[in-house]
Amino acid sequence: MTNTAKDLRGTTFTTPTYHAGGQEVALFEQAWRNQLPVLIKGPTGCGKTRFVRHMAARLGRELYTVSCHDDLSASDLIGRHLIGNGGTYWMDGPLTRAVREGSICYLDEVVEARKDTTVVLHALSDDRRILPIDRTGEILQAPPEFMLVISYNPGYQNVFKGLKPSTRQRFVALRFDPPEAEREEAIICAETGIAADSAKRLVTLANALRSVVGQDLEEGPGTRLLISAARLMVSGVAPKMACRAAIAESLSDEIEVTTGLMEVVSAVF
Ligand code: ADP
Repeated sequence: MTNTAKDLRGTTFTTPTYHAGGQEVALFEQAWRNQLPVLIKGPTGCGKTRFVRHMAARLGRELYTVSCHDDLSASDLIGRHLIGNGGTYWMDGPLTRAVREGSICYLDEVVEARKDTTVVLHALSDDRRILPIDRTGEILQAPPEFMLVISYNPGYQNVFKGLKPSTRQRFVALRFDPPEAEREEAIICAETGIAADSAKRLVTLANALRSVVGQDLEEGPGTRLLISAARLMVSGVAPKMACRAAIAESLSDEIEVTTGLMEVVSAVF
């Protein structure tokens, strides 16, 4: 879903729609103006990526998004020498590119990445704002427009994988929770075009499932799952079948658990 809006310079931009829950838009904007990096913490599917895409468009900045995984190393972010026809040449990674251009670099699920990546982030996320590139001997000074944004999910990451205080204390932190009912209904309707009554039922279902997290469920359904169920329903799939495919089977592989989840679905639809 997209929307047109004006960026800070008054130019019309197409922005991905974002339904704000509080002061996060203003806070992010002030963090960007003050050259402060931002950490967004919250469960999966609750709008972190959408928010960053919205803010990048609003601020008129290019966005480089990296989905971190346990094999992601510092050179995946910074760059590496490659071999071509004319010999070896240097290829910037997304972080280096963002620093050179004054763009926004978003590292999604940063705690998944290998430990050498967080070391790279330190000099960029304090008042030095530099990116040393050991392999080429360059030291890049980030321009004022550059911004580093990282996210992680505190729910399922264990303490050993959490961010070290020396890393997290460099960032302004925003907490994202599942949206309150009215906002979540509005998001589902806007994203899918589903009728308000069905969106309301999906949110009632989601909140019932969120209340049993920790018993059989590791994490409750994020808005993303509700949107998938709504999309199936809008295309004619029966609500129970849509909720089984998009919600119950996504949340658990245990037959007893999915059977229990489907009982909640039947009580709502
Ligand atoms: P996360 O990055 O937290 O895992 P996403 O930003 O990808 O989650 O959100 C998943 C989907 O939910 C988005 O594609 C969007 O359709 C919807 N969504 C969630 N929160 C919002 C919001 N506040 N405004 C608009 N859409 C939202």
